[in-house]
Amino acid sequence: MSNNSSIPLRVAKFGGTSVADFDAMNRSADIVLASPAVRVVVLSASAGVTNMLITLSEGNAAEQRTHYLYEIRRIQYSIIDRLSEKTLIRTEIDQMIDSIAMLSEEAGLATSLALTDELVSYGELMSTRLFFALLQQRHVAVAWFDVRQVMRTNAQFGRAEPDNHILKVKTRRLLLPRLASELVITQGFIGSERRGRTTTLGRGGSDYTAALLGEALNAGRIDIWTDVPGIYTTDPRVVPQAKRITEISFEEAAEMATFGAKILHPATLLPAVRSEIPVFVGSSKEPSAGGTLVYHDAGHPPIFRALALRRRQTLLTLHSLNMIYARGFLAEVFNIMARHAISVDLISTSEVSIALTIDTTGSTTTGASLITHTLLAELTTLCRVEVEEGLALVAVIGNQLSQGGRVGKEVFSVLEPFNIRLICYGASSHNLCLLVPGSDAEKVVRALHSSLFG
Ligand code: ASP
Ligand code: MG
Repeated sequence: MSNNSSIPLRVAKFGGTSVADFDAMNRSADIVLASPAVRVVVLSASAGVTNMLITLSEGNAAEQRTHYLYEIRRIQYSIIDRLSEKTLIRTEIDQMIDSIAMLSEEAGLATSLALTDELVSYGELMSTRLFFALLQQRHVAVAWFDVRQVMRTNAQFGRAEPDNHILKVKTRRLLLPRLASELVITQGFIGSERRGRTTTLGRGGSDYTAALLGEALNAGRIDIWTDVPGIYTTDPRVVPQAKRITEISFEEAAEMATFGAKILHPATLLPAVRSEIPVFVGSSKEPSAGGTLVYHDAGHPPIFRALALRRRQTLLTLHSLNMIYARGFLAEVFNIMARHAISVDLISTSEVSIALTIDTTGSTTTGASLITHTLLAELTTLCRVEVEEGLALVAVIGNQLSQGGRVGKEVFSVLEPFNIRLICYGASSHNLCLLVPGSDAEKVVRALHSSLFG
């Protein structure tokens, strides 16, 4: 399909729950086939599979290994059993499970991030193979495409960064020409580095893949199908009265993604914003329920848009009397952080101390802690360090928050009963962040929600 054809093409991505079993895959197939503009389908691994593969990559005892391999096989077989032609696909899946078994044994001897990525990639390889077989059996002109042919990344295993230029060139050469005659099924999350070794883009990276491919193909829209019908004013599991937002701007959605409204991978919106491609978010369980459209110009932005909650926050407080009248202390602290590839999130300063939290969004595939002994040891040479855990970040997201005087009344007035450990306000007109004890977080969100959106 060329780009001057009548309808611009769409990329549709289905998350783990949307390909969890045969019925979910069938519903997702219905959604794809209902929109002729969808030419590329990006899939996650079936729900739960990535977690099990990560466990296997940590090198377990033989007994545990057998258990996880059994579980993974069970999920794949429950889908194969419902297909009409089983033989070929079963052989393919069996081969992949043999590879998983072999790699898990290797992990038992020595683990490595490269090995983890290779092992984990089988989740997406299997789900796309099964979905491809399902569509073939529904007589769709369909092709299975190994995304690693085009998704060139650096060699930062577990959190690899795509090379946009190579991606674009390869996508136009290898993927685009197929779209005229075939619907292409491909993997999210995985890529390959220069030498051909498999990499991953970090947990939840399939959304990012969809956005990157959409950008490379000049898509008119990117559809993200998940298990929630869109983006809400806050997590409906915390506040059942949360309302769906039908249209939201890129800036607001990006704030929400970064602040842990776990709907979109934080990096997803980068390509979409860059290339102004609208992103639709909906539920594959109830496609007719509609969803949220994220785009460039989303009408009149309200002052208060949403509340996001990010749990498990760690606060570092650095004290030093040397800070009085000193220059360059902050620079030294940030230098240490940069050397450890840590990005600082919230920060607040006083005459003799600095309090900061560490950004843990889009963390690595293995989820290892970012605060290491070496980091603490280096900071201790500079100042006294206190580490407080078990905090939560509540972010009020909106527009022009510092104007109109509503923050004082509608935000601060309801916070009276709570202990607020740190407040960040003023750097961005899109957010106000509060650090609270983890045990109070949901109460704070409920109180704020009823004040701001009730
Ligand atoms: N399967 C990967 C994960 O669970 C990627 C994704 O689902 O987006 O993180
Ligand atoms: Mg996901």
